[in-house]
Amino acid sequence: MPRVVTWGDIGWRSWTVRGYGPDTMSGPSPEAPGAEFCMQCGPGTALRPGDGGRVLVCPRCRWEREVPGRPLFVVTGASAAGKTTVTSALAKALPACDVFDVDVTLHVAALGWDVWRNTWLQLAHSIALNGRSTVLCGSLMPDQLSGLPARCLVGPLHFCTLDCPDEILAARLRARTAWCGFAVDLAV
Ligand SMILES: [Zn+2]
Repeated sequence: MPRVVTWGDIGWRSWTVRGYGPDTMSGPSPEAPGAEFCMQCGPGTALRPGDGGRVLVCPRCRWEREVPGRPLFVVTGASAAGKTTVTSALAKALPACDVFDVDVTLHVAALGWDVWRNTWLQLAHSIALNGRSTVLCGSLMPDQLSGLPARCLVGPLHFCTLDCPDEILAARLRARTAWCGFAVDLAV
């Protein structure tokens, strides 16, 4: 199992995998996710933070959406670092959390990478309403989540990075099936 380096700020390694990874996932989205809106007034009325951030409030009808403020944990790292592998182990080790491999909803990214990321924030919010915290395992970076409309729905973000030796990363990527589109071009 890969070594967990640290919770907290990420020291990103320089890496690129052609066809997939930060080089392609950080580009402009074909569709920008919409703001969190009032369920009474509709998508044209964006909610605003209220009550010290514990709720979002509609400026027109005063409808409120609760914001539990539970933390969201992210286990990130380069492709093939072991993010998917640790998902089931984390789920067993953290019974108070719901743990996901974010790639299970990768088809949503056809609507735009930010739409996909924003959807995970919305899901984490829904899970928090049930009194549970969320752990996301996948290629997500702090600045990719911080500016999204649904960022206001979740509490503090905590990141840790999985890391392993470069030669192991390269070997794992070479062993992946062709459909993943991994033409390995590691720059580490
Ligand atoms: Zn409203």
